[in-house]
Amino acid sequence: MGSIAANLQAVRDRIANAARSAGRAPDAVTLLAVSKTFPLAAIDEAWHAGQRAFGENYVQEALAKMDAFAAAWPERAVQWHFIGPLQSNKTRPVAERFDWMHSVGSLRVARRLSEQRPEGRAPLAVCLQVNVSGEASKSGVAEDELADLAREVATLPRLALRGLMCIPAPCADPARQREPFARLRGLLEALRAGGLDLDTLSMGMSDDLEAAVAEGATCVRAGSAVFGRRAHAPAVPGFAREIPA
Ligand SMILES: *Cc1c(COP(=O)(O)O)cnc(C)c1O
Repeated sequence: MGSIAANLQAVRDRIANAARSAGRAPDAVTLLAVSKTFPLAAIDEAWHAGQRAFGENYVQEALAKMDAFAAAWPERAVQWHFIGPLQSNKTRPVAERFDWMHSVGSLRVARRLSEQRPEGRAPLAVCLQVNVSGEASKSGVAEDELADLAREVATLPRLALRGLMCIPAPCADPARQREPFARLRGLLEALRAGGLDLDTLSMGMSDDLEAAVAEGATCVRAGSAVFGRRAHAPAVPGFAREIPA
């Protein structure tokens, strides 16, 4: 692994090449740098390399980092995206502190996020996480329940429903990598045909971002390709109490 700046450039090049191969504009795809388990210094390095959107999975780790970031650099504007699993009793800090929430999988969580989103902030941008076939985790709404959930979430006043997200099971075959992403794109198109104003497909990670971009990803979430291999232990003591083994 090179420096974070070099890694970021390599990921941007991969996204741009995949977009051009698909006849898409490279700037139609946003790179979300997934900084979970990595220390503030890594985020600082990415920031100096022009990165402004960061993704975090664990509430406590994220809050500690966001506080430290704001204290160190109050003048820096960055976007924080929550992308991890979220229990419905832990929604408040996400509603209060984040700009985006990619992993809404139930109406219960969505309602709480809407109720808890502070009036002084823009509505929380959300994606519904869909359990497409081959989903690695069990979280996310089932495909046959997606349309009802999307219609309900779209009515919540303090949320802005933007699109869909998925985490397919890892797959080494580039041809087969595209299948779940194509499914998610089809689901988004169906919701749009039904009248919902959606513009976001949050899909693709370090190992499959080309396939995701080929199928229309508008937000790619890359962690290890940007920051390096994740350790299981907290990168900074106290930051990551919720890291799974
Ligand atoms: C960790 C994580 C990523 C980044 O994974 P990499 O393989 O390191 O790029 C993306 N999305 C979600 C939801 C994650 O939990």
